[in-house]
Amino acid sequence: MTDSLISSAYSQALEVIASVEPRIAAATRQELTDQRGSLKLIASENYASPAVLLTMGTWFSDKYAEGTVGHRFYAGCQNVDTVETLAAEHARELFGAPYAYVQPHSGIDANLVAFWSILANRVETPYLRKMQAKNVNELTEADWETLRHEFGNQRLLGMSLDAGGHLTHGFRPNISGKMFHQQQYGTDPETGLLDYDAVAAKAREFKPLVLVAGYSAYPRRVNFAKMREIADEVGAVLMVDMAHFAGLVAGKVFTGEENPVPYAHITTTTTHKSLRGPRGGMVLAQEEFAADVDRGCPMVLGGPLSHVMAAKAVAFAEARQPSFQTYAQQVADNAKSLAEGFLTRGANLVTGGTDNHIVLLDVSSFGLTGRQAESALLDAGVVTNRNSVPSDPNGAWYTSGVRLGTPALTTRGFGHDEFDTVAELIVDVLANTSAGTTKAGEPSKASYVLGDGVADRVTKQSAEMLDKHPLYPGLVLS
Ligand code: PLP
Repeated sequence: MTDSLISSAYSQALEVIASVEPRIAAATRQELTDQRGSLKLIASENYASPAVLLTMGTWFSDKYAEGTVGHRFYAGCQNVDTVETLAAEHARELFGAPYAYVQPHSGIDANLVAFWSILANRVETPYLRKMQAKNVNELTEADWETLRHEFGNQRLLGMSLDAGGHLTHGFRPNISGKMFHQQQYGTDPETGLLDYDAVAAKAREFKPLVLVAGYSAYPRRVNFAKMREIADEVGAVLMVDMAHFAGLVAGKVFTGEENPVPYAHITTTTTHKSLRGPRGGMVLAQEEFAADVDRGCPMVLGGPLSHVMAAKAVAFAEARQPSFQTYAQQVADNAKSLAEGFLTRGANLVTGGTDNHIVLLDVSSFGLTGRQAESALLDAGVVTNRNSVPSDPNGAWYTSGVRLGTPALTTRGFGHDEFDTVAELIVDVLANTSAGTTKAGEPSKASYVLGDGVADRVTKQSAEMLDKHPLYPGLVLS
């Protein structure tokens, strides 16, 4: 696609939008300016290609298509069937998975589909027997009572939030922590690394129905063969949430025992993080779970977003190109450069480094909370997010860490030297920020004082790198 085509497509689209609600057109333009002008280091974000973005803006958005391919609750779904079939085909090829379900609207939705599929597949209830016989209307109030009792109280073991797990892995405020009787495994208090023997011991004692592996903020690779061994020993289903690192799996950086797909019974993911697709989710499964996963809509999902499924197909086609493997390797190499940049400047990293796309910086040595660090960095045009560190004394709101990721800036073309400079700029900001006080003069975990001139200095240095690696080069809005 040529630059001038993309430029005129977006310019004209914005004109159409402005004719109805100019403030939305203005915000859309401003978002591009802001994304172009900041160092995006949020580990869960990326920049999808113009082809992926354009695919989302079509009339497929107007179509209802509840159900699955060839089995819809609405008429006229022949083109949605084409889209969903292609997206699933690409996904199966890309990940070497026997089955792919591309409908989930987000990562959380994908996990909900997985949970309910596991319950449906592994928990024998009178309700399910009747469902399979298709006489759900005959269910009595007593049947429902049994269902609620038998479906409830199942056990789930997942990684704790402060060790790097996700809310949906059994954390109490999320439905996963309420619908399951849950326990959490952490990381080794000394090294910050996953201790497989400790996970196995916990699994033997707790005997979960579901063992969840995967993470949002753990800066290391996981051995999924070992996790499957643990699951098998206790009769659990291994569910891997690869939302964060799906791009590294697709790009063949994580292979063998680091690739979850052959080991997990069910693998879930988002499609918009390192995988660089549209905002959405997906479930991959071994054949034995396929029929249950296929019932995701209407079990827990609303009607599929056909325009997003179409964009998933385009993104997966992109990820099947050899250039995506080069990209994924660069994401991991850049994370190493970033980590080394911090370590040589005396900063503390959880686990002492990284071997994926995440660097988790412990900012307590700067005398700051994660919240203060995140805000000061934003003032200097560095976009990050605060994150708990293991056993965080500041809890999940203020935190003691800042999570950084390389997928987005790698898409812009940043390499080793630029990531070293990024570390230098971040250390510059944090070393020149001090904790503030509350109105009453008490120490504050939120307010901060950024040294004079620091934001300008850092913004100027970032601008040089950002100008060298423009976002959507050639896209000029008229
Ligand atoms: N799973 C993991 C591991 C995540 O990191 C995230 C998002 O941060 C999700 C699931 C949820 O994804 P979404 O925001 O698309 O629902």
